[in-house]
Amino acid sequence: MNIHRFHSNANVTYKNLTLTKLKLQSLHKSNNMLAKANAQLEKLSNGIFANGELPTFAEKLRKTEDFPLRPNALEILQINLGYMCNQVCAHCHVDAGPDRKEIMTRKTMEHCLEVIANTSAHTLDLTGGAPEMNPNFRWFVEEASKAGIEDFIVRSNLTIIRANKKYYDLPYFFKDHKVHVVSSMPHWTRGKTDRQRGSGVFDQSIKALQELNAVGFGMPGSSLQLDLVYNPSGAFLPGDQSNLELEFKKALLEDFGIQFHQLFAITNLPISRFLDYLIASENYEDYMYQLVTAYNPVAAKKLMCRNTLSVSWDGFLYDCDFNQMLELKVASKVQHISQYNEALLQDRNIIISQHCYGCTAGAGSSCQGTVAK
Ligand code: SF4
Ligand code: SF4
Repeated sequence: MNIHRFHSNANVTYKNLTLTKLKLQSLHKSNNMLAKANAQLEKLSNGIFANGELPTFAEKLRKTEDFPLRPNALEILQINLGYMCNQVCAHCHVDAGPDRKEIMTRKTMEHCLEVIANTSAHTLDLTGGAPEMNPNFRWFVEEASKAGIEDFIVRSNLTIIRANKKYYDLPYFFKDHKVHVVSSMPHWTRGKTDRQRGSGVFDQSIKALQELNAVGFGMPGSSLQLDLVYNPSGAFLPGDQSNLELEFKKALLEDFGIQFHQLFAITNLPISRFLDYLIASENYEDYMYQLVTAYNPVAAKKLMCRNTLSVSWDGFLYDCDFNQMLELKVASKVQHISQYNEALLQDRNIIISQHCYGCTAGAGSSCQGTVAK
């Protein structure tokens, strides 16, 4: 296979390429064929899965009578406010970046607000891109917070707080609306963080965390929740979440006086820019073997698609954020937030493919970290 067909933005030919050596640019911007969901799905269906070398995810689920996957009670409504981001992280499953113009409109937000007011979900989870870059972000948070939802998460990449004067007061805004801040921080060292997320990201993230701590986020006993997300910096699975949390807490406190509540360890799913990295570094097959070998049937019972619905920037509904990026809409008569009907939506089969192995490997993985603790 000519890897340059897939990875046009890096001059790479060697196996042990780290995420760090890739030039950070969205797949869309570099006209990479993996910018198309179909190309990703083809890659995930062919080769080692088509020739029977590895079982498909459906075959694996059948063995434990978990196929077809069905939802349990809805707990989390995750809304993607757009793919625009001030960063271009090497592993990004959204293929987000400054060049992405897909942004949720106020009209679609109004549909979402109607649903938020009536849903049985106890958690609202706003994500992106950088959700704060949506021009209607603050209005939406203000309106959504009136619904009194139990846990209101905003996934903030931290650097956005330092990116421009207009964002400097975000820690106060988050505090005023009792938002639960969840932020990516792939490592407690500058080198590893910057290589995955871009030059200068570590220093700006540290400043942003200190500012969040200063208004009370992440402090012991504080109700202002601040959690961090760790994901591996290469083609390997995350280590034990509790051990990582202890290591992060110790290092960030000693080096920078930073505190936070929980650490979520997330497995990189083989889609979008991480799939591109796997192919370019010739790690794709090894990584899929790792995921399949580490399949954990307990994690399969607790997959986040069983208790979550994902809404895209244009209002379409998906089983999860990963399926959204692969353009796999829910298998339901109701596919758009404007037609939302929770009872109908709950009566559906969840769409799966081989990327799903990322959610069932080891202790399992979800936007809330490991699932099989
Ligand atoms: S901050 Fe998040 S959304 Fe933005 S590029 Fe990085 S991983 Fe993607
Ligand atoms: S990627 Fe994970 S959360 Fe999404 S449908 Fe597959 S198993 Fe479920």
